[in-house]
Order: sequence, then C-alpha cells, then structure tokens
Amino acid sequence: MSIAKNIQSIKKETDSIQVKLIAVSKTKSEKDILEAYAAGQRAFGENTVQELVDKYEHLPKDIEWHLIGHLQTNKVKNIAPFIHLIQSVDSLKLLQEINKQALKNNRTIDCLLQVYIASEETKFGLAYDELIVLLRDEVIPTLKNIRIVGLMGIATNTPSEQMIKDEFYELQTLFSGIKQSFFRKEPSFNILSMGMSSDYKIAIQQGSNMIRLGSTIFGAREHKAEA
Ligand SMILES: *Cc1c(COP(=O)(O)O)cnc(C)c1O
Repeated sequence: MSIAKNIQSIKKETDSIQVKLIAVSKTKSEKDILEAYAAGQRAFGENTVQELVDKYEHLPKDIEWHLIGHLQTNKVKNIAPFIHLIQSVDSLKLLQEINKQALKNNRTIDCLLQVYIASEETKFGLAYDELIVLLRDEVIPTLKNIRIVGLMGIATNTPSEQMIKDEFYELQTLFSGIKQSFFRKEPSFNILSMGMSSDYKIAIQQGSNMIRLGSTIFGAREHKAEA
C-alpha cells in the first residue's frame, strides 16, 4: 500500500468521528512526508527537536508540526517560533521555559501534559499525583503565553488488549476529571492524544480524539532509530 492510500483509509475511519490524525514521520524522509502532504495530510509528529527543525526548514510552511518526544529546556528556543503543539510536557520548569520562549516570539504555544500511564519503566511523563500538583501550582495562571489544551499518554507495549484498554480508560477518566476541576471555563482544554499504530482502535473506543500513527502510514522504521 502507498502512503497516500494508507492515509486515505485511516482518514475514512477517523474523520467522521472527529479524531485527528497525526502522521508520525520520525526517521522518515522528506520525500515520504511530501507524499503524505500530497494526499492532504498537514499534521506531522516528530520526537526529536533536531529532526523536527531540519524538516520544518525544508518542507512546506503550512505543515503543522507536533513534538511528541521528550523536550529538554535548552532546546525549546529552537522550536518556539513555529511549533503547533508540544505533546510531551512533563514538568513545570519546562512549561515556564516554553512560556518564556513563546513570549519572545510573540506567540501562544499550545501544550499537552504527558501522563505516565504504562506499567513500563520510563523517565518520561507525569504520574497522576505529579499532574495534580503541577496544575495546582500558583505559577500556572501567570504563564500567559502557553495554553494547556489536553493530555497525552502512551500505553504499555503489550499484546494484552485488556491492559491497553484499562490504561486508556484511566487516562480518559483522568482527562474528564481534570477538565471538570481545572478547565471548566476553558473550552480549549479538549485534546486527548492517545493511540499509536498498534493500539489506536482501542484508544478511539476509549475516547481518544487524537491518534499518532507512524508505521501504519509510512511502514516500519529502522530499529536503530527508535527513540
Ligand atoms: C513513534 C511514536 C508514535 C508512533 O508510533 P507507531 O507505532 O509507528 O505508530 C506515537 N507516539 C509517540 C510518542 C511516538 O514516539
């Protein structure tokens, strides 16, 4: 199947139910991205700042770039002029730096808080209690150049569909609760980014409205380049 056909068949499933497709193009060539672009895809996700900036510089300027991998504070300035959505925010310090760089660029930058839902060991993402502590911090309302627009999570890489389902269910429940408690007056808090190639159907059943698909669109990646 071609990249264009893959995109069309996924969009047929997702457009009518208002689930947004992010094409995860990490490790993929500019030619592959342009093929997806020609098929109408405009939202692309990358997991490193370096690759994101390189591709941004060479590719059409109406592409909407999403950062989906870990972001170091010292690299925020490289993406601040153009990034559409930072999906991987996992600390107050990072939010403060994004706010600072957004202000310098005279922009507001949309962010998702990455929540740690998997049972695997990882350094990334906020635990539930850390998420609440962050949202309650008195600094948050002073950050006028960022907008927290939702949550992102990655399920455990497991063959157990039940386990994946449970993790997505928990994230959806958390999302609804946080929306009620902290964002009642902010309709912009409305993105629940969950689901990758192997589990996006389960994620959609559990309430995802943004899926991040790489291999389903572009084919398998070289293993060495996995982050
Ligand atoms: C790589 C990646 C994806 C896409 O993975 P596929 O299995 O190729 O669909 C989605 N989300 C994040 C955070 C990723 O790093």
